[in-house]
Amino acid sequence: MAITAKEAARRRPKRAAPGVERVDVKAVNAAESRSLYALREKVYAKRTYGTFRTTKWVVMAVTLGIYYLLPWLRWDRGPHLSDQAVLIDFGNRRFFWFFLEIWPQEFYFITGLLVIASLVLFLATALAGRVWCGYTCPQTVWTDLMIAVERFWQGDRNARIRLDKAPWTLDKVWRKGGTHLSWLLIGVLTGGAFVFYFRDAPTLLAEFIAFEAPAIAYIFLGIFAATTYLLGGLAREQVCTYMCPWPRIQGAMFDQHSLLVSYRDWRGEPRGPHKKGEKWEGRGDCIDCKQCVVVCPAGIDIRDGAQLECIQCALCIDACDTIMSRIGRPRGLIAYDTVDNLEACAKGGKSPVQLLRPRILLYAAMIALVGLIMLVALWNRTVLEVNVLRDRNPIFVELSDGGVRNGYTIKILNKRHERRRFRVGIVGLQGGTLRIVGYEGETDPVISVVPDDLRALRIYVTLSEDAVAKLGREVTDFDFWVTDLGDNSQVSNDTTFRSPVR
Ligand code: SF4
Ligand code: SF4
Repeated sequence: MAITAKEAARRRPKRAAPGVERVDVKAVNAAESRSLYALREKVYAKRTYGTFRTTKWVVMAVTLGIYYLLPWLRWDRGPHLSDQAVLIDFGNRRFFWFFLEIWPQEFYFITGLLVIASLVLFLATALAGRVWCGYTCPQTVWTDLMIAVERFWQGDRNARIRLDKAPWTLDKVWRKGGTHLSWLLIGVLTGGAFVFYFRDAPTLLAEFIAFEAPAIAYIFLGIFAATTYLLGGLAREQVCTYMCPWPRIQGAMFDQHSLLVSYRDWRGEPRGPHKKGEKWEGRGDCIDCKQCVVVCPAGIDIRDGAQLECIQCALCIDACDTIMSRIGRPRGLIAYDTVDNLEACAKGGKSPVQLLRPRILLYAAMIALVGLIMLVALWNRTVLEVNVLRDRNPIFVELSDGGVRNGYTIKILNKRHERRRFRVGIVGLQGGTLRIVGYEGETDPVISVVPDDLRALRIYVTLSEDAVAKLGREVTDFDFWVTDLGDNSQVSNDTTFRSPVR
């Protein structure tokens, strides 16, 4: 709509009064709205060499080796059971771990292991920050592997930047295609290795090749292949920064004495370029070469201080140490250090690392305690378990001859790899008689349980009219005893007999 000259003059920005700064509201609003969202800047991590890089290669080889090869390890358990050393056997409701065979009833062993793993993680974080993130977290390990593959196909940092800017040619298609196909192959191998933990690996591999594997195996292989490709190949450091809750949680586990990858600003500042032959007096050791920045897989500058994005991979230490050696200055401008020591050094002092701190001792004591409980439980682990469930409806049955009958379900768990024979009896119920469903004609029934199996029995316990009258109460405690006829070992389980008061 057209406006008059007078209206245009009214709308024109007024000249600021002398001494008053004019604020361009539009520009401020635009800047503020821009700051709420920023496109991801792709990180082109440069290859680095040094102690920590070598350590990371070793950790990667060990962790990936364990993950991919463990399902192929064999462990002889006799003719009736799988010989896969580590197997989560949902079909038979069993978890096999080398010599251990965990039944669903023993899930507390898994709980204990998870508790110990969490405590070890807390302890490691309190001691040395995000060492888990930097070296052993699956996201870090697979991202590292994907970056190595990308470097193989596309070259190091500068070559990759150039390739991304270059127009699409046959060479670019070949290099990019090779990278993505390799990532997908790694994803498929990762998904394949995962499903091998749930079914005999050689059998499942043969089924995969013949396209005869169960549908669920293909589904999980697909899910793992896709997530490995997406998270390790494409999303990379964004997973650690935006998706993972651990960086937020672990802040509560650090303290002034935790060893963290740190830039020693008291030594590095004031930073600036340095020419050969120039003096070092009056300036810091940092020559602002930015090598610590270009090797960082998170794309950050460690010199800006502690940051959420930093996974503490220590590659910037290697990069800076290389530079320090090259320019003849002491290594360790970036190093594992404590906040306490950094502050002390800034004042000209020194604060030695304190390893034995209350939280460290507390975590260590808790690990020892849970470990001890697990060991005791393992030591006392039985190869025979008996569970008794009393019928709740009806609580009891009054028989026509005046007697009272209670019904029970007894589950006998034979954890041995051989058939066992058992005899079932009761103790503590005067005059009680036993009838096992299916064994009615036998005076002294022998119950056979096949190897590694659970057998459920229906049992009725009956008291005569006189015996009930003698009890004189509604609830009577007694025990079921199960005796192994092979080695005479016995297991009991207490329960109750319910009857009317007469
Ligand atoms: S690598 Fe070392 S010298 Fe170079 S910018 Fe980083 S801290 Fe400074
Ligand atoms: S700042 Fe250093 S330690 Fe942190 S992620 Fe980057 S390279 Fe790794």
